[in-house]
Amino acid sequence: MTAELRVLELYSGIGGMHYALKESGVAAKVVAAIDVNTTANEIYRHNFPDTPLWPKTIEGISLEEFNKLSFDMILMSPPCQPFTRIGLQGDTSDPRTKSFLYILDLLPRLAVLPRLILLENVKGFETSSARDSLLNTLKDCGYTFQEILVSPTSLGIPNSRLRYFLIAKAPPGSFSFETSSEIVEGFPQPPSSKSSSHPKPAPALAPPTSCRSTGLTEQQEAVSPDPDRVVLYKLETARDADRKSDQNADLSVRQIQEYLKPRSDLGGEEEEEEVRQYLLPAKTLLRYALLMDIVTPACRRSVCFTKGYGHYVEGTGSVLMPGVESEMHSVFKGLEELSAAQDEEKLRRLRTLRLRYFTPREIANLMGFPSNLAFPERISTKQRYRVLGNSLNVRVVAKLIQIMASQHTTEEHKDQ
Ligand code: SAH
Repeated sequence: MTAELRVLELYSGIGGMHYALKESGVAAKVVAAIDVNTTANEIYRHNFPDTPLWPKTIEGISLEEFNKLSFDMILMSPPCQPFTRIGLQGDTSDPRTKSFLYILDLLPRLAVLPRLILLENVKGFETSSARDSLLNTLKDCGYTFQEILVSPTSLGIPNSRLRYFLIAKAPPGSFSFETSSEIVEGFPQPPSSKSSSHPKPAPALAPPTSCRSTGLTEQQEAVSPDPDRVVLYKLETARDADRKSDQNADLSVRQIQEYLKPRSDLGGEEEEEEVRQYLLPAKTLLRYALLMDIVTPACRRSVCFTKGYGHYVEGTGSVLMPGVESEMHSVFKGLEELSAAQDEEKLRRLRTLRLRYFTPREIANLMGFPSNLAFPERISTKQRYRVLGNSLNVRVVAKLIQIMASQHTTEEHKDQ
């Protein structure tokens, strides 16, 4: 594959796929990016001014127009709401899957079948009928394909974002690994490297700067087996707490601090001011303190950031406590003794923790975006969270593009 591949980026958003393509090192250029969202498009244009961006609905583009692009590869992330478990699971009857079904209808009729296809979606897509239609279309066209479920933690990134991927190669191509009709968990490995690559270190000992999900977990451990304490202290199950603790002890994953805003070129008041806008507001602290997923810089985990981050607290992403866990431990422990009427005192104590949201830049770091990803100034913080939440982990997709594009014989050992 020496010639530059021509890539069609569907549902391009802020260009997560485009960044991943660059990061993959595969010689390629995006010949068209297509999305209807004006905010996302503005950001895309800002970062990729030379890429043709079509601000149109996919189903409004004709077969002829697609043929003219003569692309070799499709990268796409169809809207995931129809398939998410919290969505209504309307699946193929949801109008938002219309464009995807249109692509499936178009594919066999293209003048030339694209050599490579990569699709990203939420976990849950694998049980949808849209997925069945996709597989049937690919089979009819003779594609070799592999379905994959993988999270950035597999690359040592302290962020969970388990996603469904499908990579496909047109005939007569084959992959550098043996495909399976089962969905594989983790990155597919060429047979020769199976035993040697990415060995996860044996269950590691907790690092000296050990970090728990909250100080409460330690408390739970100390007082378990009294189940009441677990419920009282933190609205998570003991199993969740254990899982978080295991994640933080996994030394193959980096610490959150590597992804945080570098401290203080500004210093002093300006720095304070900048951070202040991300502090959790009083109402949120009082209502959600026990429900939030709190991490410290020493942690090796964070939960998936979704588009409601910074706006809704529960289940939209982790929040950061800049200090050490022992502070949290004592604050939360003390809260219990306060009555409902002592909100002010509760607040005073919670505020000492300086709990804050991750900044959009820090989330972009965790999602593998390069430092040159820029937002036009007028894009609000809320909009930044929203588009990032809709996007993907660039490193994960870059690795999948490498795997997909690598040749059976010559490039088997190339990717790390
Ligand atoms: N991978 C992208 C995000 C994909 S989210 C990124 O890195 O940012 C799904 C995107 O599909 C959204 O940006 C949404 O605006 C777009 N979209 C949904 N339906 C569409 C349609 N019918 N035609 C074109 N774009 C559509």
